[in-house]
Amino acid sequence: MLKSLLALLIVAVSAVPLAAQPPQPGPVRAIRAGRLLDPEGGRILTNQIILVSGTRITDVGPNVPIPSGAQVIDLSGMTVLPGLVEAHNHLALTYKPEPESNIYYYTYVQESTALRAIQAASNGIQMLSSGFTIVRDMGNNALYADTALRQAIEQGWIPGPTIINSGIIIGGLGGQFFPTPEMAKQHNIVYPEYLDADTPDEIVKAVRQNVLFGARVIKICVDCKPYGYTADEIRLFIREAAKVGMKVEGHVQTQAGARNAIDAGIWSIAHSGALTDELHKLMAQKGIWRAGTETPDTLAGHPVSPQAYQRTVAGLKNAYENKVNLSFSTDADYYVVGKTRGEVCMEFLKVWKDAGIPNADILRAMTINGYRISETEKTRGPIKPGMFADIIAVPGNPLDDIMALKSVQFVMKDGEIFKKDGIMVPEKFFHGGPVNGWRIR
Ligand SMILES: [Zn+2]
Repeated sequence: MLKSLLALLIVAVSAVPLAAQPPQPGPVRAIRAGRLLDPEGGRILTNQIILVSGTRITDVGPNVPIPSGAQVIDLSGMTVLPGLVEAHNHLALTYKPEPESNIYYYTYVQESTALRAIQAASNGIQMLSSGFTIVRDMGNNALYADTALRQAIEQGWIPGPTIINSGIIIGGLGGQFFPTPEMAKQHNIVYPEYLDADTPDEIVKAVRQNVLFGARVIKICVDCKPYGYTADEIRLFIREAAKVGMKVEGHVQTQAGARNAIDAGIWSIAHSGALTDELHKLMAQKGIWRAGTETPDTLAGHPVSPQAYQRTVAGLKNAYENKVNLSFSTDADYYVVGKTRGEVCMEFLKVWKDAGIPNADILRAMTINGYRISETEKTRGPIKPGMFADIIAVPGNPLDDIMALKSVQFVMKDGEIFKKDGIMVPEKFFHGGPVNGWRIR
């Protein structure tokens, strides 16, 4: 009896996810931060020392003694801040001019899930290099390439941000595509890019499929089709996802869809095109997150008309003025020649600047709000004892010039140095096996 109980206990303990494990013993590192940015207070603290033991922060302050034998990391000429969050991306999808004329309809015909998973691994590394230590990966990742990415990072195979992934986007028949009857009826082209769910039974089943295959958040197409979801149907998604503690993000492109999503009390709304002053006020009242995906007008090969750009900027400004919960979320799934995925995401800072949002609040959206929308705030983010050590550094002061974030020189993830002096040094992140355990699913 005792023996079998013990065996059960061992299984239970090894199945505990990474985030719930107690601090691991490991090397002690001391970071000398010339300037430490506190995004919550919107202020700079000078001459701070951050102690990191293994994967976690153990102490921070001006007079923290450095234990003998600790590795000292000198960032005394830099601004140190917690890792950044990108709240809406698709790491296993890349719009490209060649061969598919930026039409992702063809991407998933041309590229296998396996190839897209490898792209996701590469894009994850590119994001981390730009300082994004958490990415919400919101679907369009073929047959769960997003889950594979998250597992590979969490198990310890490769470096990458903490991934909060959605699995397959769930929508009414056809998803975001307009398939031919052959494609739609045989379910072998729209799926796996979209998961059709048109009835209550199908909604429940679709959520469960994503849960089973490793999603951490549920993504739905609220109104991609004229027969989009009603508020009651969205409530059903929310209830089913809540059973496993997950939230629901809705892709929204019409005002009617936004109204249904807000009425149902959805967690987050992706895309801002349909959001009006009135809808922003309702979102603010209910605390609904806005994952706006505001595209800048500077991306080579992805033109935005001046009128469209003005609307985007005005929309973001209006949301800010209405005190809507804002996340930094780009939807940047394009290949821009000469830029990494992380650098493309940083181009989106221009929209926030053009909307007149103070730097301190842009930084809050990229950090504090990011931890909240991704529900990682209890374990990751703030530079405080007990939190995972996800720490970055930039020259200059992003409170004075937000564009300083474009030159991230130092990145620490889970206490390990990923980038130093502007150069990626990720050797320590590569392992020949799942060093953190194969049970991480
Ligand atoms: Zn998207």
